[in-house]
Amino acid sequence: MERFDFLIVGQGLAGSLLAYRLLKANKSVLIIDDQQKGAASAVAAGIINPITGRRFAKSWRIDEFLPYAKSFYQQLELELGETFFYERSVLRFLAGNKDINDWYARSAWDGFGEYMQEYQIPENFSQFYHLPFDIGAIKPAAQVDLPLLINLLKVYFTKNALMLSERFDYEKLSIQEEGISYHTFNARQIVFCEGYQGRFNPWFSMVPFEPAKGEVLILKIPGLNQKDFIKNKLMIAPLGDDHYWLGSNYEWNAPNDLPTESFKRDFIQKIKRTIKIPFEVIEHKAAIRPTIKDRRPVLGTHPVHPRLSIFNGLGTKGASLAPFWSNEMLQYLLHQQAIHPEADLQRFC
Ligand SMILES: Cc1cc2nc3c(=O)[nH]c(=O)nc-3n(C[C@H](O)[C@H](O)[C@H](O)COP(=O)(O)OP(=O)(O)OC[C@H]3O[C@@H](n4cnc5c(N)ncnc54)[C@H](O)[C@@H]3O)c2cc1C
Repeated sequence: MERFDFLIVGQGLAGSLLAYRLLKANKSVLIIDDQQKGAASAVAAGIINPITGRRFAKSWRIDEFLPYAKSFYQQLELELGETFFYERSVLRFLAGNKDINDWYARSAWDGFGEYMQEYQIPENFSQFYHLPFDIGAIKPAAQVDLPLLINLLKVYFTKNALMLSERFDYEKLSIQEEGISYHTFNARQIVFCEGYQGRFNPWFSMVPFEPAKGEVLILKIPGLNQKDFIKNKLMIAPLGDDHYWLGSNYEWNAPNDLPTESFKRDFIQKIKRTIKIPFEVIEHKAAIRPTIKDRRPVLGTHPVHPRLSIFNGLGTKGASLAPFWSNEMLQYLLHQQAIHPEADLQRFC
């Protein structure tokens, strides 16, 4: 039997950041991931947007999470020797008087004005976009190239941990007082970071997942040269080299994680109502967000089996939540630091 401190199931954003932190803390780690095409981290744009929705709501604890995420990702860039974190503004298209009034009213609220700023629309903008009445700029905002980050960490794990590319089989897990065993491996603790597939985990069925499928198109738009995000009924995020991520929709409790022709057809119509210049569809992808009923992360340990833990529920905001909550999970696992009640598994037990 090979012995590890931790077995992590899932190498999406949650499992990757937690495994990375554990390795840095000199713990031995075995990671099992079956590399599903529809994993959320492989499809997400990685946008960190402090002000969201039709009502210009402020993201939960964003004043803490955004600076925390920025310094975490920038440090990780230095350690991994690649760039995957970009500061960009969200150019929020304001479609009519109501939008404009709401924008200015909300920006006068305490704590909002620092993110909601006026935007001088460049003269050449109307060559590229069907212009709205006005545009507001949300900044600071940011983008994390999640697929690149996950791949970089995969390379790092291949050198520093044991990685198995296979599906974890719940039936093969044996739980003892002092740890768990799985095939020929022993570990002191197992942590499930399975994204939306956590809803099928027999030990954590008390977690009320409300998975939200999202589809995206990757477009090539030569000549657009857009460095910020564009947000109207859709979100456009630059990927470099004339490529752009365009998304997304929310389909609750979808039957599968596959792209659909109806989304593509409708979305292309929306794009044509936003962008004036020609584009080419390069790719069409779909995945499922690991959203929990109360829209908060879930961290903790099984009430009866203390060797079984969970780190999940990053929902629609993994890029901003994962740096902070992976550290909370680390402190909990290594130093028994209490988990914040809003994110504690105990709220469902
Ligand atoms: C269309 C879309 C757009 C999004 N846009 C943004 C955005 O702009 N900004 C943002 O912050 N967030 C965004 N998100 C949300 C973000 O993707 C998630 O919050 C985050 O990636 C979740 O990471 P995770 O590790 O929990 O889950 P996942 O990325 O789904 O990873 C789970 C991993 O576990 C593996 N796994 C599961 N079960 C097993 C098993 N039994 N055996 C082995 N392996 C297993 C899977 O293969 C997968 O690799 C978006 C999501 C979607 C779908």
